[in-house]
Amino acid sequence: MPVETTDTLVIGAGQAGLAMSEHLTQAGVPHLVLERDRIAERWRSARWDSLVANGPAWHDRFPGMTFDEVDPAVGPDDFPHKEVVAAYLEAYARRFHAPVRTGVEVLSVERLEGRAGFRVETSQGVIEAQRVVAATGPFQKPVIPPVIPGDAGVAQVHSSDYRNPDQLAPGAVLIVGAGSSGVQIADELRRAGRTVHLSVGPHDRPPRSYRGRDFCWWLGVLGKWDMAAPRPGTEHVTIAVSGARGGETIDFRRLAQEGMILLGRTEGYAEGRLIFAGDLVTNLNNGDANHDGLLDEADAYAERNGLDLPQDPQARRRWPDAECIVNPIRELDLASAGIATVIWATGFSADYGWMRIDAFDERGRPVHQRGVSVEPGVYFLGLPWQSRRGSSFIWGVWHDARHIAEQIAIQRKYLDYHQGAASRPEPEQRRAC
Ligand SMILES: Cc1cc2nc3c(=O)[nH]c(=O)nc-3n(C[C@H](O)[C@H](O)[C@H](O)COP(=O)(O)OP(=O)(O)OC[C@H]3O[C@@H](n4cnc5c(N)ncnc54)[C@H](O)[C@@H]3O)c2cc1C
Repeated sequence: MPVETTDTLVIGAGQAGLAMSEHLTQAGVPHLVLERDRIAERWRSARWDSLVANGPAWHDRFPGMTFDEVDPAVGPDDFPHKEVVAAYLEAYARRFHAPVRTGVEVLSVERLEGRAGFRVETSQGVIEAQRVVAATGPFQKPVIPPVIPGDAGVAQVHSSDYRNPDQLAPGAVLIVGAGSSGVQIADELRRAGRTVHLSVGPHDRPPRSYRGRDFCWWLGVLGKWDMAAPRPGTEHVTIAVSGARGGETIDFRRLAQEGMILLGRTEGYAEGRLIFAGDLVTNLNNGDANHDGLLDEADAYAERNGLDLPQDPQARRRWPDAECIVNPIRELDLASAGIATVIWATGFSADYGWMRIDAFDERGRPVHQRGVSVEPGVYFLGLPWQSRRGSSFIWGVWHDARHIAEQIAIQRKYLDYHQGAASRPEPEQRRAC
């Protein structure tokens, strides 16, 4: 059977794969996008039922299309439901005629021997490509730290498997991790009448909005989305934001006043009891400092630029400390606390085991510069902090995709020259003619 060939093979049709396809089309690069499930699958089936985007519709989108073109009910300041985000990405693929093939899984990628390109084995046969772009997502493999043994008598689920309160067995719930996923799930469960414990680690918590502007706008004008990746080891401070119920600032002290039981970082487990670090107050104080620091920077920006924005004294309101903050709990007996479920909102790791090429460090992480791999012809897109803070978000990945398309176009120009030169007579021969 003849082997199918393409210039550039994009793997994954989430927002990263689609942005890549748009830019490759604009650069005139023949390509194909393979997706093992459906377009935007993770927005459809790897997130909880009530999830809405964390950023407003005017901001969390590609430049070429607004959300109201897909759903006229979505205004620019609304937070679209996850199904609307999926519909938006699907409509985007149609608009830009992205050559997406769904239901095709890439099983392995290997370099061809003795000639340029890659052999890509898929669930529907082999494809040979000159280049591959791995756009398989910033959040691939759910991570559940091995803290609580499987036979401890509690159900343990990862946040990517949580759907709604009814899915969980009756009883109290412990959520570990207070980034955007953890805190939103905790709040939903508390509103559904559950007793909720939330283990809070270090975090940033920007105000949802300040002086009439969403934090996405403030981070934009203050240049913080464009912040370059910090030094290795310091990059991950989780960010606690929510677009739920029209969007509100995450304030852990308010949540504690409303009945949520806050705990420090989950440290260990012994004989039915969970042990928590003594860092709750420090984590809350640092989160408050991050929040207040952004307000200060916003005020300074408004003043320097003469912006006529309304004052917002409520933003600096400090809620009184609930008992769980005054006297932090360091040990919790799961059975006595009635905890039936632990939800681990502890993030994800990468899984590139199917890429049998020399492009990874000893921990399996891609070695790259702005997505251009150390292995020629291999590119990554949608990595957290790929080039900047915004890289794994809808609008950020679009800019990274443009950079990669440019790099691919440059490589193709070198090869065009080579082919042209190879078909021209050598200088000696030319003189002899
Ligand atoms: C709970 C949550 C909320 C978020 N909210 C926002 C938000 O409001 N705004 C925002 O900008 N960002 C948000 N993000 C971050 C980011 O936008 C999403 O994670 C987004 O899904 C990333 O898109 P992606 O295309 O890079 O990866 P993914 O959406 O993960 O897409 C990768 C695709 O690759 C496919 N795939 C993987 N392996 C293979 C293979 N071997 N062969 C073929 N196909 C494969 C997968 O099926 C998947 O469809 C959120 C993330 C989470 C977890």
